Amino acid sequence: MAADVIAEKVDYKEISCQSCGANLLVEPQMLTAICPYCASPSIIQRPPTENRPTPVFTIGFVVTEKRAVEAVTNWVRRSSLFAKAAFRKAVPELTRGVYLPAYLYNAVAESTYDADIGENYTETETYTTTDKDGNTVTRTRTVVKTEWRKLRGRHVSYILDVVVTASKGVSNPALEAVEPFDLRALRRFTPKMIAGWLAEEPSRTQDECFQFAHGEAVEEVGKKLKGFMPGDSYRNLQYQTNVSQESIDLVLFPIWTFAVRYDESKPPVQILVNGQTGRVGGKVPISPVKVTIAVVIVLLIILAVALLFMAGR
Ligand SMILES: [Zn+2]
Repeated sequence: MAADVIAEKVDYKEISCQSCGANLLVEPQMLTAICPYCASPSIIQRPPTENRPTPVFTIGFVVTEKRAVEAVTNWVRRSSLFAKAAFRKAVPELTRGVYLPAYLYNAVAESTYDADIGENYTETETYTTTDKDGNTVTRTRTVVKTEWRKLRGRHVSYILDVVVTASKGVSNPALEAVEPFDLRALRRFTPKMIAGWLAEEPSRTQDECFQFAHGEAVEEVGKKLKGFMPGDSYRNLQYQTNVSQESIDLVLFPIWTFAVRYDESKPPVQILVNGQTGRVGGKVPISPVKVTIAVVIVLLIILAVALLFMAGR
């Protein structure tokens, strides 16, 4: 198995982007001169890497180039009202389908926790007050009180399918913007599956990705525990989490990459399209002028309403 993977890889050229650090594998006939992630022309050929990590799974492209272009064009046109006008008018360029490397992380988290759990109950209490004639009277009212009890226990949860980018060309927030992928379509990787496409090999180390995923997992456990607390309220929640059975697999995800150039003096905006679901994601450049105008209009409306209100009195 390993031997034929290596044999089929000989055909690939390895190139590297000096601007964003992405490491791409390309077939000789489709050598690219421009980085698909950052649209920079600073692409260099580099010697093949030894011990390249082999992808375990991949998901094939479902979204065609035509559909991806349509989705991005609509997305850019319909971007927020506060987007720079030049951005909304810009034509997305540089369409490349790329197999993006990312790690898929799974684990089991066992936590011990203790907390104070609050149970609410109502009580009727009597109080004295003065009535409208100035007499002191005794009345009753219902008040909500909280009884606290200690709770200590064990909580087991499964951390399923945390996706962490392994590419320096695509950040985790950028990848999250086009997630989720339907992981039921995962197939065991064979080099044939990516033939004819651009593929990237990890430019972030597995260790770095592992640390990130582990951190995400522990954070997720904290959220789960908070949701799990019984009673009406809780306080002093403390927990210790032990993560075990961690697995991390390299997956190639199908991504269409676009660059939107709206200002000669600024780097192009990266927009990604999920090659499986068609979901579009990217960071829209906001126009400070438009935001200021909107704020001024809102302030003017408030002022007008206030003036009308005062005139009516
Ligand atoms: Zn680049």
